Amino acid sequence: MGAVVANAPRRVLLAAPRGYCAGVDRAVVTVERALERYGPPVYVRKEIVHNKHVVEQLSARGAIFVDEETEVPEGELVVFSAHGVAPSVHANAEKRRLRTIDATCPLVTKVHVEARKFAAQGYTIVLIGHEGHEEVEGTTGEAPANIVLVQTEADVAELEVADPDRVAFITQTTLSVDETTAIIEALKRKFPNITGPKTDDICYATTNRQLAVKQLARECDLVLVIGSTNSSNSNRLVEVAREHGAASHLIDNSQQVEESWLDAVETVGITSGASAPEELVSELVEFFRDRGASDVSELRTVDEDVRFMLPSEIRPARAPSA
Ligand code: SF4
Repeated sequence: MGAVVANAPRRVLLAAPRGYCAGVDRAVVTVERALERYGPPVYVRKEIVHNKHVVEQLSARGAIFVDEETEVPEGELVVFSAHGVAPSVHANAEKRRLRTIDATCPLVTKVHVEARKFAAQGYTIVLIGHEGHEEVEGTTGEAPANIVLVQTEADVAELEVADPDRVAFITQTTLSVDETTAIIEALKRKFPNITGPKTDDICYATTNRQLAVKQLARECDLVLVIGSTNSSNSNRLVEVAREHGAASHLIDNSQQVEESWLDAVETVGITSGASAPEELVSELVEFFRDRGASDVSELRTVDEDVRFMLPSEIRPARAPSA
């Protein structure tokens, strides 16, 4: 055990579930396998997942991250990120004769399918999400003429559509569950015949991590969320922790913990966004152990066992049957 220092929480409580979701795991493994199978360089359009640490590690192994498919040299191999891409990106890639592997999370693909279905039926589609987020750009690209973006309840109040009886809604997968519920209720009041998914399109990982951090926040003075600033689901975890009574900060790693945050903190909670690797959590736990934290435990709220198949291009070949 390390020396006890000032501003040292005695207790560390870890949220469970936390960290990697099935879609992020699949996307990262996709790039790793592509590097092993085809050798570097493997181009990746956008950050494969929104985490600085993961992007740096893959870059060191030969992945080259680009903003647009048009930056990839003709004929090369490119992986599309977990957040999904618009059909125009596939078309551009084809024009440039790029070899592509699509690591879009299947739960994002599901939302793209909904968008196409509602557009084909002539609906105005209200997409609840954050302007400028890659997932929102990709989904909007499925039916740009039909989709309107709504970010708040105030946006709903101002919304005007061609036919109020032909409106559908879909959502980004990584939103705040509570805020989205309020926006959907406002939409239902304004357009009583609105159609959409049964509840929303927020994925299981986002929902479970928010549920876990709610419970964690009730037992902690401070909740630290490991995740990068461009990670939507990580930012939502900070908001949810604050709403449920704890101070909370988003950090990339243990080096970003500020002394002033630890003043009078007895119990510190730790969670991590769906794109943050567990090794960063372990480092943060060690940071607190070194300062004298002696009680480290996990607060489990939900069990997860979701796994997705890898894209066919890098799936291991099946052994021939005897
Ligand atoms: S956060 Fe949800 S939608 Fe995004 S990659 Fe993970 S499982 Fe898929």
